[in-house]
Amino acid sequence: MPDSSFDLAVVGAGPGGYVAAIRAAQLGMSVAVVEREHLGGICLNWGCIPTKALLRTSELYNTLHHLDQFGLSVKEIGYDPKKVVDRSRKVAKQLSDGVKFLLKKNKVTVIDGAAKLAGPEKLAISKNGKPLDGVIAKHIILATGARARALPGLEPDGKLVWTYKEAMVPAAIPKSLLVVGSGAIGIEFASFYRMMGAEVTVVEVMARILPVEDHEVSAFARKQFEKQGITILTGAKVAKLDKSSDSVKATVEHDGGPSVIEAERIILAIGITGNVADIGLEGTKVKVERGHVVVDAWLRTGEPGVYAIGDLVGAPWLAHKASHEGTICVEKIAGLNHVQPLNVLNIPGCTYCTPQVASVGLTEAKAKEAGKTLKIGRFPYIGNGKAIALGEPEGFVKTIFDADTGELLGAHMIGAEVTELIQGFTIAKTLETTEAELMETIFPHPTLSEMMHESVLDAYGRAIHF
Ligand SMILES: Cc1cc2nc3c(=O)[nH]c(=O)nc-3n(C[C@H](O)[C@H](O)[C@H](O)COP(=O)(O)OP(=O)(O)OC[C@H]3O[C@@H](n4cnc5c(N)ncnc54)[C@H](O)[C@@H]3O)c2cc1C
Repeated sequence: MPDSSFDLAVVGAGPGGYVAAIRAAQLGMSVAVVEREHLGGICLNWGCIPTKALLRTSELYNTLHHLDQFGLSVKEIGYDPKKVVDRSRKVAKQLSDGVKFLLKKNKVTVIDGAAKLAGPEKLAISKNGKPLDGVIAKHIILATGARARALPGLEPDGKLVWTYKEAMVPAAIPKSLLVVGSGAIGIEFASFYRMMGAEVTVVEVMARILPVEDHEVSAFARKQFEKQGITILTGAKVAKLDKSSDSVKATVEHDGGPSVIEAERIILAIGITGNVADIGLEGTKVKVERGHVVVDAWLRTGEPGVYAIGDLVGAPWLAHKASHEGTICVEKIAGLNHVQPLNVLNIPGCTYCTPQVASVGLTEAKAKEAGKTLKIGRFPYIGNGKAIALGEPEGFVKTIFDADTGELLGAHMIGAEVTELIQGFTIAKTLETTEAELMETIFPHPTLSEMMHESVLDAYGRAIHF
């Protein structure tokens, strides 16, 4: 069979690749997407979605232990780890099937196989090592994602030392767990396993957990996690690992000196690295730096006609960033003239631990580094009627404004449902609103969102309820 020809071929059907493919089809292009493993990528199959299904279980389980405060009681609380994992896998499958349907609906050709660049406008495809017919396309988008990073001496073994994949499908909840890395992925697993009853220790090499978040959010999160019984070691690294048949002894060097921590399992969550191998980059002008493909503002690589998006091109490693890059890339290829380059400061970040964490824009430290004069507002959950009615009095909203222009520079939140609330500030930032418009906006009562209003008012000395 001759190679098939398309206007666009996308390698990888994660949230970057499948969104790019659908948008291109909407714009009238003939599109093929090549996927070697699972439609929906890491996000739908092994990332965002199945973790949120697990976290929903642990949240409910935790709430069951505090039913008394709502005037409720149950006789026996328990769980079946198999059913917990099965539900998460079922949710993942449902969404992956949904992507299949969407691609079909948009007449995108889906090719089941692994693709690599094989010359200008050409992809070679194989399945289980056997070559299949190739694909010819004027434009090729690489959206091959990323995988967990390992450290020398701390390589995942699938049994005692887990990556996120094994951590998502435990046969049983381990009695004790060491989580290495306190970014979003590490903290979400720490939260899940602690709520399900494991003794959890988190080791973080930086001076504070959730290091990309505002320092006040990090400090508050640490206090909450410690209250829940999570042990946290910062400025710490695993120096040595001694494995026995069903547990691990880790020698951890940290601020307080070396400690030996024994745990049944270890989860490695120290970052990710781009899937740049075996995609035919050798001999092309595609540049790779620190494990990621280098692109310009329109997601173009150094090789004419070859683009790259999503986790493959680097931080922030977020599904919505990958999808947005897919849209920008395709709209630029189609020659639409409204296309704007991605503004990293308008990308919200969410961590679905308990309490939840969400932010958009500059932290206070970064805003100061940028030489801005600031007006900062804060509002605590304890001052909000809905938070108290929900039994969720812990948390706060912090907003940062440019004192000279009134521009909203950043918003940082910790507490119940902040991963939903943050979108209000993301819209505000994208529309470049100022404090005046936010103060004039009417927020419904009683809602958690009123805290967003109050935080803005507080920045200008006008908070009402605190
Ligand atoms: C545990 C965990 C939790 C997460 N939670 C969140 C969250 O809550 N929110 C959030 O925004 N992000 C989250 N992420 C990150 C998110 O999953 C990624 O940012 C997102 O999946 C990146 O999308 P992508 O399309 O760039 O790559 P991927 O989703 O990794 O998709 C790449 C696809 O390319 C395929 N592929 C690779 N090489 C080839 C090849 N040669 N040929 C054909 N196919 C190929 C792969 O099989 C894969 O399906 C989480 C990640 C993890 C690991």
